Amino acid sequence: MDMNTIESVVSTTDPGQWREGDAWLAGGTVLFSYGSPVGSEEPLKRLLDLGQAGWPAVTVNDAGIELAATCTVAELYALPISDAVAGRNWPGLELLRPCCDSFVASFKVWNMSTVGGNLCTSLPAGPMISLCAGLDATATILGRHGGSRTVPVAEFVVGDGKNCLAPGELLRSIQLPASALAAKVAFRRLSLSNLGRSGVLLIGRLDADGTLVLTVTAATKRPVQLRFATAELPDAGQLAAAVERSIPAELYHDDIHGLPEWRRAMTFRLAEEIRAELCGPVPSGPLTVSGDFWPPHATSPQPSTQPAQQKEA
Ligand SMILES: Cc1cc2nc3c(=O)[nH]c(=O)nc-3n(C[C@H](O)[C@H](O)[C@H](O)COP(=O)(O)OP(=O)(O)OC[C@H]3O[C@@H](n4cnc5c(N)ncnc54)[C@H](O)[C@@H]3O)c2cc1C
Repeated sequence: MDMNTIESVVSTTDPGQWREGDAWLAGGTVLFSYGSPVGSEEPLKRLLDLGQAGWPAVTVNDAGIELAATCTVAELYALPISDAVAGRNWPGLELLRPCCDSFVASFKVWNMSTVGGNLCTSLPAGPMISLCAGLDATATILGRHGGSRTVPVAEFVVGDGKNCLAPGELLRSIQLPASALAAKVAFRRLSLSNLGRSGVLLIGRLDADGTLVLTVTAATKRPVQLRFATAELPDAGQLAAAVERSIPAELYHDDIHGLPEWRRAMTFRLAEEIRAELCGPVPSGPLTVSGDFWPPHATSPQPSTQPAQQKEA
């Protein structure tokens, strides 16, 4: 859509240039479809365009993976089979593609939208939020008066469409630590409609030190993480009790993509599936990926297992 209140577009990555009425512009898939940042009705005057930032999309080293905020979903999807990570024993890489695929989106959105834009939009169904929170990533944020700070992504999003950024702050990058990438992982997602937006998305990790980490997203207004040290790995009842304690009823999200009661029930179910997969006696096989809640009718097209850029808008 046209944004007819915009007076200028400034190419910059300097938060010092930000002033009232400005918005950072990344892929533009929210700004040009909603006409404003999510949750804001204030007319924008300027867009601070990150398009020429020139930040390397992905940097890989022994510490893990750094994603520039401007890394696109398409670039992230290409990473697991790239030379950049060849030879790394990082099972956590298996999460990247299911998370990108959870971003059920058109060709345009897939190729333009950015990891940083997804975090900053802060929707419950933000699949890059799920991925980064599930892998204990930290976000590096640049302030308007110089300096920077880091925040765990699991704490970056604080509510539906709400995050911890102060006006003008710029999300620069996201660090995925090698320790989490080296963990055994599990992934579950459910959507109420065929190729629909995520209603529940859970990621599990069993770290090298035996810690079990369960990250709940999409079902809840913000990410919720549960951690169990190796000496305290839960049985089914203990896990259910921990989920009950950690997620009060009002924290379950309520919108067209799922009633809170359904999201809650599915959170318990998928949490237990993940516990059994990661901590059970049977060694787990390849990553199990659930998807749409309803199986396709025999006459309907099968849900695509192809990457989203090949799906129709
Ligand atoms: C068809 C369609 C399907 C979609 N499906 C989903 C979905 O399933 N889940 C979902 O979460 N979203 C979805 N979206 C919304 C949106 O596309 C995504 O959230 C996307 O990741 C936003 O990224 P972007 O780079 O395009 O952000 P932009 O539109 O450029 O920016 C979004 C917001 O973030 C701010 N921002 C961007 N980058 C930074 C930064 N580095 N630092 C500080 N602020 C920043 C902007 O100022 C703006 O307020 C969908 C949109 C469409 C049109």
